[in-house]
Amino acid sequence: MRREYIDSMPDLHATWLSRLNQHWSAALEALPSQCAICRRWPGNRFCADCLARWSQATPRCRLCARRLAGGAEICGACLKQPPRLSHCIAALDYAYPWQNVIARYKFQADTGLARGLGRLLASHPPTQQMLNGCDALLPVPASEQRLRERGFDHTLLLARAMQPAIPVWQRAVERRHTPQPQHELGRTQRLRHLQKAFSLAADHRARIPGKRIALLDDVMTTGATLDALAGCLLQAGAASVSALVLCRTP
Ligand SMILES: [Zn+2]
Ligand SMILES: [Zn+2]
Repeated sequence: MRREYIDSMPDLHATWLSRLNQHWSAALEALPSQCAICRRWPGNRFCADCLARWSQATPRCRLCARRLAGGAEICGACLKQPPRLSHCIAALDYAYPWQNVIARYKFQADTGLARGLGRLLASHPPTQQMLNGCDALLPVPASEQRLRERGFDHTLLLARAMQPAIPVWQRAVERRHTPQPQHELGRTQRLRHLQKAFSLAADHRARIPGKRIALLDDVMTTGATLDALAGCLLQAGAASVSALVLCRTP
C-alpha cells in the first residue's frame, strides 16, 4: 500500500468509497475522457482550448506570486515585510474554473485530476527553472486526521504527477491537526496556530542543512502556511526555501 493512500480506517464507509474512486479514476485516466472544464469529449482532462483560455501566464510578484502590473518584480507588501520564501511561483489564479477543479480533486476525491494538474504545473516554464535550482521538492503536508478524512494526500499525488528530476520528500515534516478549519480563525490566531503546526520528522532532520528546498501546495491564499513551513526548515538549516503553487488567490 503506497503511503499516500491512508489505510488506517478500513471500517469507514467514506474511506472505502474514496479508495474505490481512486482506482476508477486511475483506470479512466488512461482512456479518452471529458474535459473537466468545458465537458467536451473525447479529449484530455483539460482540452487545448480550455488551457489556452484559462492558463495564460501572467506577471506575478517574485516573492508571493500576487498578480503584478507595471513591470515591477516585487509587490509593495513584500517590500514592506519580506516573506521567508526566497521565490514563489503560481501557475494559475484561484478563480473560475480552477477553483471548481481543485474542489473536485480535493473534496470529491477525483484523484484522476492529479495527473492533468501535475502536468500543467510542470509545463509552466518558471517551474522547471525553479526545480533546476533546488535539491528537493517538499509537498506541504496535511495532518493525519485530514488525510484520513480525505483518504489521500493531495499534494503528494500532485508532486508525483509532476515527475520532477529532484527527489520528492515525503513525510519530511509532520503537521499537527488544527481543531477548526483555518479560514474560520482570525489572522492572529491563525498565525499562532501555524507557528506550532509543523515539526521535522526525526529521520529527515540531518538531511535538511544546506539544502535548497521547493515547497509544493495546491492553493496559496495569504501565504501564512508556506511562510510558517519555510521558517521551520530555515531554522533547521535549509539554505533556501522557495514555493511552487498551482493556484494563487488573485
Ligand atoms: Zn475544455
Ligand atoms: Zn509579493
